[in-house]
Amino acid sequence: MDHAATAPISEKALGEMVRCYREGFGNPSAIHSVGQTAKNELEKARGRIAKALGAHSSEIFFTSGGTESDNWVLEGIARKKQRGHIVTTAIEHNAVLRMAQQLEERGFSVTCLRPDRLGFVTPEQLEAAIRPDTILVSVMTANNVVGTLQDIPALAAIARARRIPFHTDAVQAVGHVALNVRRLGVDYLSLSAHKFRGPKGVGALFCRMPNTLPPLILGGGQERTKRSGTENVPGIVGMAAALEECVGGGLEAAVPYLTDLRDRLIRGLTGIPGVLLTGAPSERLPGLASFAVEGIGHSSFLVNALNEAGVCVSSGSACSAASKEASHVLEAMGLDARLARCALRFSLDTENTREEVDRVLALMPGVIEAQRRKGSAF
Ligand code: PLP
Repeated sequence: MDHAATAPISEKALGEMVRCYREGFGNPSAIHSVGQTAKNELEKARGRIAKALGAHSSEIFFTSGGTESDNWVLEGIARKKQRGHIVTTAIEHNAVLRMAQQLEERGFSVTCLRPDRLGFVTPEQLEAAIRPDTILVSVMTANNVVGTLQDIPALAAIARARRIPFHTDAVQAVGHVALNVRRLGVDYLSLSAHKFRGPKGVGALFCRMPNTLPPLILGGGQERTKRSGTENVPGIVGMAAALEECVGGGLEAAVPYLTDLRDRLIRGLTGIPGVLLTGAPSERLPGLASFAVEGIGHSSFLVNALNEAGVCVSSGSACSAASKEASHVLEAMGLDARLARCALRFSLDTENTREEVDRVLALMPGVIEAQRRKGSAF
């Protein structure tokens, strides 16, 4: 139940990758037939990904994943503009936040919008934060710790009305909720294959006006000079297959199924005294349920106890799972630091069953109680 950290690869994606490793292994920049076969695979995959997002092929650039796509937008705009003000939120993934902090150290000014208790930032907040020298707005589509879904069309419209580029980190949303870049109204959108059953180390950036973003990785001039390095063609083909699987009918079945499982988990766990739902009650990722548990000291105790019982969950984001610090997301949402250190995130996939959810519901009261008793013994 930790699919937001990463998901198992889809059989279809794996099958296409194996085929591509065998038949399309060439270097797509080579002009001979082996290279051109790989080039064909690459461009077909670009078209499939563009179609799934409602974009044009010319707007899709392949990267090594969500982190690179996020870094690229912030650093790229900063290099182009040289100075100015960036608006983002206090609950972004570190791929955005750390970059924003570094830019601040280099003389840019940064405003981090504070979300409300449920994790939302509002169009009014964004409107008030924008300045004449604002060069970029970056707001994530779905939060990776609590799953809250922002109203991206409303936020992007505000930036667009002022001709300010708008980026969204949609790493947790792509493949999980219906998304269309035109309806969102964004200029840049980051995605990562391993979050929707594609392979790891592959992602993409949707870029509405490619000329607005300088390249960060220089070399052989691949990706129309925007991102050098020999393309990971089998990985990209796997990403296209996985995304197509999610979007082409998969979502229609998955969303109600996961919403039902998620809400069953939420109803059951919030029935335990001292277990609080974090994030929005309904405007959240279909498979993501997140909680704070009073009186247990640190979530790693619960994560370990559940692991011993054969259940994999996370304390928040996978990359900070080993940290003793409270989640910056929960603190920004106004949870006190003590409670923010006791967060649990369940992220479900269609392979999870109602029986598994019921097993967790049966386990949790005992696991929490045992931990609380241990805690009070100290
Ligand atoms: N953005 C968000 C919201 C994420 O959840 C993650 C990964 O957990 C990333 C960015 C980084 O993506 P990647 O692992 O592909 O670098």
